[in-house]
Amino acid sequence: MITPSQLAAVAELSASFADGQVEITSRSNLQLRAIQQQDLNSVIQGLDSAGFLPSPEHDRVRNIVTSPFAGLGFGEIVDTRPFVQELDRRLIADQVLAALPPKFSFSIDGGGDWFARDSDDLTLRVVSVDKTHSFHFVIGETLSGFCVRIDEALDCVLEAAKICLKISKEFQIPARGKKIASVPQALDRLLDGLSSFLVACPSPDSSTLVAHMPVGVYATHQSDFASLVPLVPLGRLTAEQVQCVAIIAKECEGDIRLAPWRGVVLGAVPKHSISQITEHLEAAGLSFDAKDGYRGIAACAGSSGCDASLTDVRRDASSLARRLAGRNAKPGWTVNISGCEKQCAMRNGATAELIASSSGYGLRINGQLIASNCSLDSVIDKVAACQAEEPFEVHL
Ligand code: SF4
Repeated sequence: MITPSQLAAVAELSASFADGQVEITSRSNLQLRAIQQQDLNSVIQGLDSAGFLPSPEHDRVRNIVTSPFAGLGFGEIVDTRPFVQELDRRLIADQVLAALPPKFSFSIDGGGDWFARDSDDLTLRVVSVDKTHSFHFVIGETLSGFCVRIDEALDCVLEAAKICLKISKEFQIPARGKKIASVPQALDRLLDGLSSFLVACPSPDSSTLVAHMPVGVYATHQSDFASLVPLVPLGRLTAEQVQCVAIIAKECEGDIRLAPWRGVVLGAVPKHSISQITEHLEAAGLSFDAKDGYRGIAACAGSSGCDASLTDVRRDASSLARRLAGRNAKPGWTVNISGCEKQCAMRNGATAELIASSSGYGLRINGQLIASNCSLDSVIDKVAACQAEEPFEVHL
């Protein structure tokens, strides 16, 4: 969650010192690019004044992801906002945890639709047995088979993060959930260290996790309020669009949530303001069209933002979006486009993955490599054909 004044501050900093764009990351963070070295201190001071840096030494490890619809409904079992705020508070109060790797991330899944992640280092995923709620403990993508009580969940996950640091030294492996889960002795060591918290329980069904990218107007559990979800093409907003969102959120007293599908949610907007707000946002260039061709497409920074990129993937993603415009797609139908093998754009559950090489694109559909060294036109044809094979009427 971010306040309108914080969002406005980021927009001003981008316009003054970066490239006039603001990117939303897959951890629901914000990213400014192309800052000159001599302007870095001004940017840091601006961020600090806006309240973004409560503990600079922990800044890169304050990665806590939850549903951007938390507290708004959608069948959630537990409102995760208090857990996120308390975890953040305790994280930055602990000097030991500043040593976590910069991309270490926590995820808290309170249930309900629209939130599907299995890529975070430590995840608490709510489960209900006989009307009693607890959190299943997940390490990387690995379901542990153990639950932790709701009231002990934060103690458990903070202790787990500390044990990850110790395991990293003992086993000479990165302190990352996936790495630890892939070494049986390291995983046992982690679970042994948490034995006072963990109770054996059945694993939740992960087959229902779908990486949705919602777009449009969504009901909340308050009948007079709705949530607005504009489409953010390739996760990038202009500073003017960011200002527009900030002004609207301030005027209608809605709250702003950044979303892990690299989008934004205007939560709890009064229903009588919806048409006026959507008009404003559409005038600013943000679409509410579920058939917008950009829906479902994610791209890495590409050659405009990363020296490693072998092609201009954002330009190519725009070509694909033009081709897909006006079509329905199955919920969760997503395309990742990466400028090199590192695949920074990779999200869990992607239908199609395009990976640039020095001789064209490689294409994976549902994890299977189906083509290598493809031209852009050819790979767009293949992705469009794949989407056409999975038509699905989207009901919002
Ligand atoms: S996938 Fe490759 S090109 Fe794209 S941002 Fe990552 S390192 Fe750069």
